[in-house]
Amino acid sequence: VTKFSGKPLTTLSFALNRLIEVLDLTHFLHEDTQGISVHRFRKTLARIVALTLTNAQTILMDCFGHEDPNVTLCSYIMSDKLIVADVQRIQRELVILLAKDAINESESLGGLGGERVRDAKNKYLRLHQKSSLDPGDITEIAEMLTLDGRDWVVVMPGVICTLPRFSKGPCANRQGARNPGNCQTGCAHQILTAYNMSETDDMVSYVLTELKNALDQQSVTLSMWISHLRYWLYRWRSVYDKWANHPLVLAYGDPDFRREDIPA
Ligand code: SF4
Repeated sequence: VTKFSGKPLTTLSFALNRLIEVLDLTHFLHEDTQGISVHRFRKTLARIVALTLTNAQTILMDCFGHEDPNVTLCSYIMSDKLIVADVQRIQRELVILLAKDAINESESLGGLGGERVRDAKNKYLRLHQKSSLDPGDITEIAEMLTLDGRDWVVVMPGVICTLPRFSKGPCANRQGARNPGNCQTGCAHQILTAYNMSETDDMVSYVLTELKNALDQQSVTLSMWISHLRYWLYRWRSVYDKWANHPLVLAYGDPDFRREDIPA
């Protein structure tokens, strides 16, 4: 280290290897590995970016403004074509995995997107005259539903957006965009998971308690709690049915809402 102190760093890989030696961490390297190179971090970076693009777009949108994070990241920020290629490959794998989980749990899915997953599964079974799906079948349906690993994104815990590329969702005001921060209840592109059902039920219970407090205290937050109630109440028919006769739901629920509009 002393020999190179104060000299320009011509290669980061060299410095990294010296650091590993100085910190006595070489035993953590795989025995076949000849030292470490900065390229090793490319895959880690690609995985982190792909995970964020698939599972946490709201964070990226907060960072970059409400533009399409896919375009912003891959076209403007990540100039390294190899990293972009890795991101896209990993993103595709993650989306297919997401779809496989959805197919496996299709009977418990909610939202119109959930209905489409069930329909695709049943159609496949009918077409191939099968009573159950094997792993290869599930992969095939997952690729078909996601257009080979594109488009599906987790917009919040338990909510998957399946908006096709170049379409416009009710949450955004330009073509080819979604805005997870403004995800709308009842959107035709939504898949809701069983986790979302229990969360929705908990949220309705919580909102009703806060709504009652706001009423009792004649609080200015009353209209906010009414909006929250309408936001959460109409996602799942079973959750709606549970709370439909609650006096605050009767008084402050959406008068234009129709029960049959919630997918069964
Ligand atoms: S409103 Fe629809 S298109 Fe927009 S994020 Fe939610 S599910 Fe996707």
